[in-house]
Amino acid sequence: MLNEPEQVTADLLDAHRTAKQSGKIRFAGVSTHFNMDKMLAHLATLGRIDVVLTTYNFAMRSVAAAMNTNPDAPKTDMTEAIRSARKAGLGIVAMKVMAGGVSRVQRGDRLYGANPQVLSKRLSQTGVPVAAIKWALKNESVDTAMVCMTNNEQLDENLRAMAGPYTQEDESLLMSRLASIGPNYCRMCGSCGGTCEKGVPVPDVLRFLTYAEGYGQFALARERFLEIPQPVRDVRCSNCAACSFRCAYGVAVRNRLTHAYEVLA
Ligand code: SF4
Ligand code: SF4
Repeated sequence: MLNEPEQVTADLLDAHRTAKQSGKIRFAGVSTHFNMDKMLAHLATLGRIDVVLTTYNFAMRSVAAAMNTNPDAPKTDMTEAIRSARKAGLGIVAMKVMAGGVSRVQRGDRLYGANPQVLSKRLSQTGVPVAAIKWALKNESVDTAMVCMTNNEQLDENLRAMAGPYTQEDESLLMSRLASIGPNYCRMCGSCGGTCEKGVPVPDVLRFLTYAEGYGQFALARERFLEIPQPVRDVRCSNCAACSFRCAYGVAVRNRLTHAYEVLA
């Protein structure tokens, strides 16, 4: 997972070339979670990358920033960034198209106590998963979307999303969803990376929380969290009167991090 242009090293590109020459891979790819627009532009100039796996969902469109009352909200337009990269010859695979998992939490976990479906019910909003997939795929420059499927119902939803056009009803569902996830859903713009003086990797921890709550993958979330150095895992955001960083998208960073540490630490 590479989030800064300088992480795309000559060694990596050489490893790609060697793997291609030896027939181990047909296409060289890079995946990116943050700074996606900058990464797409950079990768397109290299001429050495075939395909990019990038976060892309309805919460990232420019209208999302327009809805935000904060004038400092990022104006990143991922739809255009993807179009430009595709034009330059990159294959585009979208991930995280559900903007946090929405209603797809199905598997229970002891984290959620005796009634693991409570979280699922709270997050559930009929029609949103289909609308979210349709939204990503309506960008003609998206070649495919990587969407989880853990049961037949989700398989049916995915097939419906591929079969139908994006409608006004889908738009209304997503606008309403956007309003409801506002303070909780991190758009993964990466702006808060490196801002915590105590070393908390804010965007990463928020992403781990999404693994647990949005996708029901607590084990994965905990595994990633344990990769953070112990002194940083011992930090408690609840000990800060306020977070030193203010998210331009309106994510309640301190609250979300406090919750993430309660769940994962
Ligand atoms: S919390 Fe806000 S600033 Fe930080 S990555 Fe998420 S959307 Fe960007
Ligand atoms: S609340 Fe405090 S410890 Fe947590 S990220 Fe913000 S500044 Fe860092």
